[in-house]
Amino acid sequence: MVEEPAGTMSITIKDPSQTLRVRLRERLERTAELRCATHGRAVIAVRIHGFDNGWFDSMWTTCCPALERQASSILKTRC
Ligand SMILES: [Zn+2]
Repeated sequence: MVEEPAGTMSITIKDPSQTLRVRLRERLERTAELRCATHGRAVIAVRIHGFDNGWFDSMWTTCCPALERQASSILKTRC
């Protein structure tokens, strides 16, 4: 497994909507600043599959579930 340097969060967004990208940008900036309390790592990667009924459908790559929970809770704040 290849590890990216801390602080480099890979972002993949499948939904082409520009409006959603603007909404996402601020949230993703906040998730990119998260650091795991246990491992000191940032979020490695996130894939946004779409936007459904007010929720972003996301898949996270993180060092552990605790960091994933923090990141997804920021993203899942209802629009
Ligand atoms: Zn961790």
